[in-house]
Amino acid sequence: MRIDLHTHSLISDGTDTPAELVANAARVGLDVVALTDHDTLAGLDEARAAAPANGIKVLGGVELSCEIANRSIHLLGLGVRADCGPLNEEMARVRVGRDGRVALMAAKLQELGYDVSEADILAQAEDAASVGRPHVADVLVAKGYVADRAEAFATLIYDGGPAYVGRYQTPLTTGIALVHQAGGVSVLAHPWGRGSRDLLDVAVLASLRDAGLDAIEVNHQDHDDETRAQLGGIAAELGLIQTGSSDYHGSGKTGHGLGVNVTSVESLNAIIALIQARGGVGLS
Ligand code: AMP
Ligand code: ZN
Ligand code: FE
Ligand code: FE
Repeated sequence: MRIDLHTHSLISDGTDTPAELVANAARVGLDVVALTDHDTLAGLDEARAAAPANGIKVLGGVELSCEIANRSIHLLGLGVRADCGPLNEEMARVRVGRDGRVALMAAKLQELGYDVSEADILAQAEDAASVGRPHVADVLVAKGYVADRAEAFATLIYDGGPAYVGRYQTPLTTGIALVHQAGGVSVLAHPWGRGSRDLLDVAVLASLRDAGLDAIEVNHQDHDDETRAQLGGIAAELGLIQTGSSDYHGSGKTGHGLGVNVTSVESLNAIIALIQARGGVGLS
């Protein structure tokens, strides 16, 4: 069984439609794939509908933009119900913040001498329910200012960068509670990626476990082998489920191909059991 529990479609900042993503997941030999777009569940019906024809199982999820101490942390909610009012209201609040900063980022870029308008960014985002910095990066690529998303992030739009604008993010413990309220399983995404290691030390991870955190994403491209071994040890010590996943974004992110990291059957079974116990939505 090959299981990938963290992917993005063009409903947020990936490049595949949800149906294309499911077909691509089946093509590379995955048996289970979770769609976890940023701060929206809008792609899940299409992804689930594509499952049977492709001979693959789909798990619905979301990647919530959260924060601790004003620093960005991502939380996956797997198996959440789409009819949970409080979760939907919170995701809508985050998306309003995403929409609101588009004009502000365009203004910063213009001040820096880049010909990028709010309309350019919104056109790039097309049908995405969640507009993000990767769409800004794609405009910069299309206009020839940078070679790829990675260069746009490295030079202009990284956290605190010259064209960066912050936005509302959900307090992490609120995110965990909302995922549970919606029947889902909470997974801390890439906990030691991109400089968040110092923030999420063992004591903090233990307090998050006490606050209800169910799992941590151990096998992720942002973690080297030593980091994976250390996080795996901590997960075992704290009684947290361990996951592995690609964080696939289609052609938007290199080195994150579907199935590049996978989750064990034991972990998936534990996750599905929790979703069932909480009244969430299991595999389709
Ligand atoms: P935002 O959601 O607008 O805060 O933008 C952050 C998102 O951009 C992350 O969730 C990643 O998917 C993506 N991202 C961050 N850094 C990079 C990078 N160096 N290259 C490509 N995508 C990135
Ligand atoms: Zn993303
Ligand atoms: Fe993430
Ligand atoms: Fe992600």
